[in-house]
Amino acid sequence: AKEALGGNIRVFEEHMLRDFDDRKALEHDLREALARNEFELLYQAQVDIKTLELRGLEALSRWNHPSRGIISPNLFIPLAEGMGLIGQLGKLVLESACKEAMRWKRPLKVSVNISPLQLLERGFAESVAKILHETGLPPKRLELEITETVLLEDRDGAVAVVSDLRSLGLTVALDDFGTGYSSLAILRDIPFDTLKLDKSFVRDIATNDLAATLVRLVVDIGSRLGKTVIVEGVETRAQHEKILQIGGLLSQGFLFARPARSEKLAFLRDDEQSA
Ligand code: C2E
Ligand code: CA
Ligand code: CA
Ligand code: CA
Repeated sequence: AKEALGGNIRVFEEHMLRDFDDRKALEHDLREALARNEFELLYQAQVDIKTLELRGLEALSRWNHPSRGIISPNLFIPLAEGMGLIGQLGKLVLESACKEAMRWKRPLKVSVNISPLQLLERGFAESVAKILHETGLPPKRLELEITETVLLEDRDGAVAVVSDLRSLGLTVALDDFGTGYSSLAILRDIPFDTLKLDKSFVRDIATNDLAATLVRLVVDIGSRLGKTVIVEGVETRAQHEKILQIGGLLSQGFLFARPARSEKLAFLRDDEQSA
């Protein structure tokens, strides 16, 4: 059942965190989890919508809790942020993702989610440079995904860090685009490379003209600004057809692949297995 990790297994989500005692207990466990590294990364394919060619993989964290089972990042990332542990956790994640990508037989990009608080921590760009150096991953194979909430925290700080990161040679993606309330400001202010349109826009795309028009507009804006556009959350053939008509470049969604353990992604390991 382990291979269903990203999909069917019951994942411990935020609403399951009922009371204060439960939170306290989980906070305690999170410290231990960091010390013991109970985190695991799953990888989800990002594909060209026309050719279905693989462009890269996004790393998505899971916490394998010894008694509660698999805990969702929607729960433990905010918990780690609140406890001031996101820098430490984020480093662990980045390091494992870069190490893992070095084992792949094809030089694909790996995308790693970065929390706004982590991005704005002093010395973040230096710590990324250090991890790239130590793991040997060529910077162009790394993409960091940030969300527009960084603007709310510290606009100038965010602009400066993103510029520093890009000058290392890696790329930066703007995640969940369209869900915040500073979407146009972030297009103007942050020098990013990739725009990821939030999955909420794709949901009704095949049945609702307004939804389809919005996706078309965002894909157009992104392309005109010279960004790579990734449409998130494609689950059905009807949605895929619609996006093909619109002409979005890349896509990520359950229709193409669910997040999976790296060792399950045979195409990354072909050569090793036959060797
Ligand atoms: P995200 O960055 O927007 O990642 C995409 C989420 O959408 C993933 O959920 C993925 O499993 C899910 N998804 C992918 N395709 C589809 C689809 O076709 N339909 C639907 N309904 N969902 C799809 P996941 O893995 O539960 O991650 C949730 C969020 O947790 C992520 O959203 C990201 O914001 C955060 N996260 C995950 N790993 C990390 C991490 O290592 N660091 C940080 N800071 N945040 C993380
Ligand atoms: Ca993401
Ligand atoms: Ca997203
Ligand atoms: Ca998200």
